[in-house]
Amino acid sequence: MAERLRVGVIGAGIAGLTIVRSLQKIADVIVFEKSRGVGGRMATRRIDDVSFDHGAQ
Ligand SMILES: Cc1cc2nc3c(=O)[nH]c(=O)nc-3n(C[C@H](O)[C@H](O)[C@H](O)COP(=O)(O)OP(=O)(O)OC[C@H]3O[C@@H](n4cnc5c(N)ncnc54)[C@H](O)[C@@H]3O)c2cc1C
Repeated sequence: MAERLRVGVIGAGIAGLTIVRSLQKIADVIVFEKSRGVGGRMATRRIDDVSFDHGAQ
């Protein structure tokens, strides 16, 4: 049986998450993200009680 491909993706922005979604069918994928959350520049930001989505809405 062929060994399943293993892939590492750097960054959980929209580009990284898109390629993860595409590769999941054929590979074991692990994502390395330096920030606390996912989304990169399109993440949800929180300031006190206010949160807002920015980036590619
Ligand atoms: C205010 C604002 C409004 C915008 N409006 C629009 C819009 O209306 N339409 C539009 O098309 N685009 C818009 N954009 C641009 C769009 O959001 C970005 O082009 C897009 O989100 C970039 O995605 P990306 O995955 O390429 O990069 P990023 O979102 O930058 O993701 C990169 C990720 O990699 C991580 N990373 C970086 N280096 C490392 C490392 N060494 N190790 C681990 N992780 C790492 C980062 O923390 C980040 O999470 C806007 C951007 C902003 C800020």
